[in-house]
Amino acid sequence: MPRRVERCFGCGCEVDHDAAGLNKKLLGENVSKFFCLPCLADNLEVTVEDLLAKIEEFKSQGCKLFT
Ligand SMILES: [Zn+2]
Repeated sequence: MPRRVERCFGCGCEVDHDAAGLNKKLLGENVSKFFCLPCLADNLEVTVEDLLAKIEEFKSQGCKLFT
């Protein structure tokens, strides 16, 4: 099954699978706009490192959005 490639709503760059999963996790599963990590970090007033840590945390919980 081909994966849909999401584009960042903020800067137009490609949003990778983990980042897309994080968007869903933080903004709701039905989000229609995706943000890349730098733009998402900006929006949430956190750092990219914080977001990467979150992704690892969700992965370690076995979250299906990140498999
Ligand atoms: Zn962006």
